Amino acid sequence: MANKEFNPWAMAQSQLDQVAEIIDLDPGIHRVLRLPRRALTVSIPVKMDDGSVQVFEGYRVQHSQTRGPSKGGLRYHQDVTLDEVKALAMWMTWKCAVVGIPFGGGKGGIICNPKEMSEGEVERMTRRFTAEMIMIIGPEVDIPAPDVNTNPQVMAWIMDTYSMNRGYPVPGVVTGKPLDIGGSQGRNEATARGCLFSIQNAVKKKGMKLEGSTVVVQGYGNAGWIAARLLHECGATVLAVSDSRGGIYSKNGLDPVAVLEHKQKTKSVVGFPGTDAVTNEEILGIECDILVPAALENQLTEKTAPAVKAKIVAEAANGPTTPDADRILEEKGVLVIPDILANAGGVTVSYFEWVQSIQEYFWTREEVNVKLKSIMDKAFNEVYDTMESNKVSMRLASYIVAVNRVAEATTLRGIYP
Ligand code: GLU
Repeated sequence: MANKEFNPWAMAQSQLDQVAEIIDLDPGIHRVLRLPRRALTVSIPVKMDDGSVQVFEGYRVQHSQTRGPSKGGLRYHQDVTLDEVKALAMWMTWKCAVVGIPFGGGKGGIICNPKEMSEGEVERMTRRFTAEMIMIIGPEVDIPAPDVNTNPQVMAWIMDTYSMNRGYPVPGVVTGKPLDIGGSQGRNEATARGCLFSIQNAVKKKGMKLEGSTVVVQGYGNAGWIAARLLHECGATVLAVSDSRGGIYSKNGLDPVAVLEHKQKTKSVVGFPGTDAVTNEEILGIECDILVPAALENQLTEKTAPAVKAKIVAEAANGPTTPDADRILEEKGVLVIPDILANAGGVTVSYFEWVQSIQEYFWTREEVNVKLKSIMDKAFNEVYDTMESNKVSMRLASYIVAVNRVAEATTLRGIYP
């Protein structure tokens, strides 16, 4: 799915430039927001199972700490670049601002293919990476979380390494932890649940009904598979899903849980009985009501967007749509719920987890989901109203809301010294 020519950092900066013009952003503040506050590159030597030593390159970027500590996931993928991590960190700043949680944006990544590594190798890489960034992370500074190919176990290793070095348990250093060491109820499915809430809001605005709607989901990781499951539970028909190896289609609809079981057995959704094979490109053009890109960046492009037939695109992935594709989808009248809103449920429940970890007082799953819904609904309505009053796309509207909040905070705090 990777495309070497695509530069997410250039895309993130140009999105900011576009909104700066619309909101008449102060040029000094614009210059500040255009760059990350801090970016750390580290080399991570790892003893591999065969006795050799491999060295991986890792990054942690803190785009902003103006509204609070920086917050954002850690991704393990062979196509990670520093520019990608910088873009993802900037998007986290806008995401936290659009849902009104007190964080700035951060992101981390290691260039590696965890699918070709043993669990022990991934653990040693994670612990060494944690040691290398120990001076810039912490509950008050920067709080990592899961992202592509990282999970609660990886968060547990980070929490343990950080805590062993401090000499006492520090559960607030990461979110997305397992429940037994201070994770939050509902965190695992929060990205998908938040995406469902924004789809429900969009469906209402469009005068559609979720029950009986048809859905296509690209990507079958934590966000994609749970989004498919929740949408299926709401009575939508999931026509097609995919993962990095390819996709499957059935005109009668798929049972997401059965597809997950197949993926767990065979490592892919491909080959699920009774389905036709589709590529990750073809899947985007399947006739459906709701399309959920839940894989990587740069999927809806100038090349693939013209084929889109969905009425609503809900971006569970970060950065799946290029600016060219945005224009094409807008002309077609597709309502695109932008990533910084559609997938903000994950970081919102991360915020709840951080609060619970610091207070050492834990909430029920119901409390978490009710609070998540209220934040997602409020953010959706603010962005939707901004879209209507400014006559812009929903993406630009979300940027207007977010950038204004971060700019206001930057102005209030002033430039140090
Ligand atoms: N990686 C997720 C995201 O892109 C979650 C970040 C977090 O929970 O801090 O939003």
